[in-house]
Amino acid sequence: MANMISDDLRGLLSERHVDSPVARVVRALSGHGAVSAAQIARTTGLARSTVSTILSDLKRSSLVVEVETRSPGVGRPAIAHSLNPEAGTCLGVLLGRNEARVVLADVAHNVIADVAIPLERDYRPEKATRVIKQTIDNIYKEHSLPFSGLLGVGFAVSGAIAANGRILRGASIPGWSGVDLRATFEPALQKPIFADKESNCAALAEMMWGAAVGVEDFVLFKHDVTIGGAIVANGRVLSGYAGTAGEVGHIMLNPHGDLCSCGNRGCLELECGGSQMISVAERRGGRSLTLPILVQEALAGDIGLRRLIEDAGDVAGRGLATVGTLFNPRMIVISGALAAADDILLAPMRASYGKYTLVKSGDVDGDLPTFVVGKFLDNDNCLGAVGLVLRHHGRLI
Ligand SMILES: [Zn+2]
Repeated sequence: MANMISDDLRGLLSERHVDSPVARVVRALSGHGAVSAAQIARTTGLARSTVSTILSDLKRSSLVVEVETRSPGVGRPAIAHSLNPEAGTCLGVLLGRNEARVVLADVAHNVIADVAIPLERDYRPEKATRVIKQTIDNIYKEHSLPFSGLLGVGFAVSGAIAANGRILRGASIPGWSGVDLRATFEPALQKPIFADKESNCAALAEMMWGAAVGVEDFVLFKHDVTIGGAIVANGRVLSGYAGTAGEVGHIMLNPHGDLCSCGNRGCLELECGGSQMISVAERRGGRSLTLPILVQEALAGDIGLRRLIEDAGDVAGRGLATVGTLFNPRMIVISGALAAADDILLAPMRASYGKYTLVKSGDVDGDLPTFVVGKFLDNDNCLGAVGLVLRHHGRLI
């Protein structure tokens, strides 16, 4: 039964059927999880009566189930619709600096498993393929799930990915620049492969499950050892022609600044990135530090480390102001290790953003965006990789 359901679903989710009303409803459910008929009508642009008829048909064929959702506070539970969790599964895989991570979820957006695989710093594609396949096999066995129900595998990579599936220069896993992801993983997995850079995946996770649910225009700012970013406009993550859109860490702030790994000078990442902050803090304290410890000690009241984070927020806000002028977001989601500093970072960031961007606070044209900390500081990349499959974003063909 489960196999038959997922065969139908695979068909409905494929690009060939993109314009049929039924496929539009299925894809709205796949992308948004449990939603009301009214929300589906809004997302798909279909008439409410058409949506109701389609939902009844899909329920009869067991592709869709009714679920109760309850808003926080009082009120009766509302009826929402979701894809049948038994209709299929999706995998998200993070190819990190020295680990891979695999998240398994069903098509109703429930996370079933989350497994980290430690790897040596310079791991190769062949090794990654072997251990990831082994881990996937173990997860399906452990949860007694059919591998045939797997709809696709999404990869979050620490570098931009061209439309032909190759990882572009600048990936932070040594030796992976130029690697063809599809050719590497498809023979072993035998499933459709999706891929995007880490911060685009993080934005997708926040949009589907986290701080930016229901927000169509936002910027994700990943403030960590390096700086990443993603731009979401009209509900879509921008990839750009070469897959590098949203790389806010490489906005030029100082033409006479240090040389950056990207080959330019004075990039935002060099002016306020975690790596530079750690160097300053280590020089000051005469001991080695990590970013989470730096943040922890600032939160515990170390005035010097607070100042270091405040200054980084001020510089980051200046860079983000440029992005804000161009894209006019409603929200800025801060993720990465520094996001844990919360207002120590966010308050100066918001203040300098307001100083340098076009639309000011209380303007007749609008207001400053809301600055919020992301919901998934620990596994946003990997969760978003699952989202690549559910939203059909970043498919490698
Ligand atoms: Zn740069």
